[in-house]
Amino acid sequence: MKIKISIPTERIQNPIISESIVETGILINIMVANIDSTYGELIADVSDYRFDRIKRALESRGAIVSILDRPIHRDDEECVECGACISVCPTTVYTFDESWNVHVDEKKCIQCGMCIKMCPHGALRLGE
Ligand code: SF4
Ligand code: SF4
Repeated sequence: MKIKISIPTERIQNPIISESIVETGILINIMVANIDSTYGELIADVSDYRFDRIKRALESRGAIVSILDRPIHRDDEECVECGACISVCPTTVYTFDESWNVHVDEKKCIQCGMCIKMCPHGALRLGE
């Protein structure tokens, strides 16, 4: 499953991710990392059955962990099926179906935001 890990300012100097991995022995696949000296936000992949344990380890160190159920939302009323999002998405969330409508496979989204900038109709937004 895809999860979002937020690291607040007061904990940003601590090696939260490394310590949690060492403590639990659970490997997480970090797909996006936006970290500076004030805040950190990561999107990672972790096995469903290991989620509770790694969540506890991360949260005990001050991180906020949530499951990304619907990482990207499309407003079907606004979408004109132009396909611009297909060409920029690095994880092939969007594909044309046999009727040339754009199919969305939300589970693959890593919230990079590229498609939102590209969509000419403002049909896309990140989910929580
Ligand atoms: S946010 Fe990035 S990964 Fe997610 S659908 Fe858009 S382009 Fe693809
Ligand atoms: S770029 Fe926007 S309007 Fe075009 S297919 Fe994708 S979601 Fe629809």
